[in-house]
Amino acid sequence: MNTDWMTRGKCKEVAPDVFFPSDGMGVLAAQRICGECPVSESCLEYALQNHIDHGVWGGASERERRRILRRRRLSHAVVAK
Ligand code: SF4
Repeated sequence: MNTDWMTRGKCKEVAPDVFFPSDGMGVLAAQRICGECPVSESCLEYALQNHIDHGVWGGASERERRRILRRRRLSHAVVAK
């Protein structure tokens, strides 16, 4: 997977630990930054495809990414039937 997008992420402007928050307020703070990021779609897809468990990627928390992956698995299962 192409990772050129990483050099254009908004997170380059802030400390990396912002994207590894320990509470909900921290998640919201990271998501606000991701919300203004021009590469958030690529970032989210990278995290999903690589099953990255920790941190906020592409504006999605760990829990949100698990939900997205679960939805994708379910929709693929329906299509396969
Ligand atoms: S979406 Fe968020 S974590 Fe991903 S590159 Fe942009 S700012 Fe960084």
